[in-house]
Amino acid sequence: MTSKLIAGNWKMNGLAQSIAELEGVIAGRSDIAGDTELLLCPPATLVAAFAMRAQGTGVRIGGQDCHTEASGAHTGDISAEMLADAGASHVIVGHSERRADHGESDETVRAKVEAAWRAGLVAIACVGETEAERDAGQALDVVRRQLAGSLPDGATADTLVVAYEPVWAIGTGRTPTDDDVAAVHAAIRSTLEERFGEAGKSIKILYGGSVKPANAAALLAIDHVDGALVGGASLKASDFLAIAEGA
Ligand code: PEP
Repeated sequence: MTSKLIAGNWKMNGLAQSIAELEGVIAGRSDIAGDTELLLCPPATLVAAFAMRAQGTGVRIGGQDCHTEASGAHTGDISAEMLADAGASHVIVGHSERRADHGESDETVRAKVEAAWRAGLVAIACVGETEAERDAGQALDVVRRQLAGSLPDGATADTLVVAYEPVWAIGTGRTPTDDDVAAVHAAIRSTLEERFGEAGKSIKILYGGSVKPANAAALLAIDHVDGALVGGASLKASDFLAIAEGA
């Protein structure tokens, strides 16, 4: 695996004027290695405008969540089909903030991955342990259990990306040691190979949790780290591009 995916999760941040940051990323795209994929996931309100602006630029646009159904009586929700219709190529599912704030179970996340596939989107499925689980020595077990419950059969590198995001590292400025990242990514790789055979070898595994320009190159150099899912540092084009330069 040589090409990396650098994905930005803007969370509940961004107004119409924030398209200036997308413009900045597009302007800096040519300084980033050609095989490094760039993806920005703005809030749902901006997906269509961003996707239109990003067309043909090599920067792709994704959603941050989708409902399991294609349409229906689900006030306030957005379907994978709607994201695809707005020009998205990817959707993040099972982010720990959704698991915590909206009580999403592995079963729900699995149904959302299936919904993404139904709409032709690449699903970025997030897994990761809490601090208490890490302290109890359960990180690998938790991640394996989340993978088993959250991933449907039949995943390929064209339909699935896995993001390892230790909950305690998100937005905290703390990251696991390189050895800990390596251990979890190796465990995810072997789980994907056992489950999906040959396809499991090339499904991208992103690291997420306080990735910044200063630590990106070291994290991205770890075995089986095929890219990064970046929260806070993806909001500014200059930081996001600096992270991508480390790929
Ligand atoms: C995230 O929420 O996906 C994330 C990794 O956030 P941050 O980079 O801000 O820790």
